[in-house]
Amino acid sequence: MNIILLGPPGAGKGTQARHLVETRGMVQLSTGDMLREAKDSGTEMGKVVADVMARGALVTDEIVIGLIREKLETVKANGFIFDGFPRTLAQADALGELLEAEGETLDAVIEMRVDDEALVARIVARSTCGMCGEVYNDNTKPIPADGKCTNCGGTEFKRRADDNEESLKTRLMEYYKQTSPLIGYYYAKGLLARVDGLGAIEAVQGEIKAVLDA
Ligand code: AMP
Repeated sequence: MNIILLGPPGAGKGTQARHLVETRGMVQLSTGDMLREAKDSGTEMGKVVADVMARGALVTDEIVIGLIREKLETVKANGFIFDGFPRTLAQADALGELLEAEGETLDAVIEMRVDDEALVARIVARSTCGMCGEVYNDNTKPIPADGKCTNCGGTEFKRRADDNEESLKTRLMEYYKQTSPLIGYYYAKGLLARVDGLGAIEAVQGEIKAVLDA
């Protein structure tokens, strides 16, 4: 089963994708994670995208489609979760073609709905474990008092450079201009399901499970 988690920055796509990896053995393909890795390891492509990402703008379709193509051609999985991809109609068309070339189908697109004010509050409060990527939130899920990640025991926590109000404004605008048309696109293909992304993590997990088991 291959699915897309669709939603604005801070909707909880990464958190839910990690849960699906743990519970269903699916493979998470996050273009944001791939781009951050390229940036941190200082590859040529990483240098090109660093400034674009810091501003919160979108990296070119060519680059992200190339990243996804490479994964689909090389990774074998019991289902992929596309997290943060596609973000434009061109990327959505390309994903359809890539999956078809691999003899795969797209089974569901889950739109995670959240209101904009909640997004801003979530994003400016978020941090992740530097070892395993577990997501924390200063208000709703603070880093434990002993300073150790509940998932892996790691002791280093990171805040994303683009998790600030300025680049968030751009990221939200990009979402509404370029990505939100995908909601209609996948509705028309009969693939769209919606969940309330504002609920507690476990409640959202339950809603997604219901969609996937249906
Ligand atoms: P994310 O981790 O999904 O929030 O992505 C972080 C940043 O990486 C975005 O703000 C974009 O600059 C870039 N990015 C990630 N995925 C894509 C994509 N599918 N298309 C274009 N840019 C992307």
